[in-house]
Amino acid sequence: MEHLPSRTQRWQPAGTEHFTGDVWLSDLGQMPDGSGLTMLGVQFAPGARTDWHSHPFGQTLYIVSGSGIVCDRDGDRVVVGAGDVVQTPPGVVHWHGARPDAPMLHLSLTTGGATEWEPERVDDADYQG
Ligand code: MN
Repeated sequence: MEHLPSRTQRWQPAGTEHFTGDVWLSDLGQMPDGSGLTMLGVQFAPGARTDWHSHPFGQTLYIVSGSGIVCDRDGDRVVVGAGDVVQTPPGVVHWHGARPDAPMLHLSLTTGGATEWEPERVDDADYQG
């Protein structure tokens, strides 16, 4: 058994290539069973969000704390909070981030390989919906 206390986890800045605002990532690794399940903690400062993107096999988000927004290209937009789960289908272009007035921490669960980033950012008009 491996125990990684929260204080030992390494939060890395996500950078600005695919994110707007301050976002930090904690790579929780992959399951050792060969399933390719990738687990990632993602913290968003208030107002921070991803660029538009999709996941080849979809994504499950588990909201750990705070308050956020998940929105897809068709304008389906949900406000989420702690304990909520959002599943995005394979290939559906979407973004996720914190609300303007609160941070958000979510767990991201994916299989099937790397995130596919769209060329556009989530600008203020997209973000405000
Ligand atoms: Mn996503």
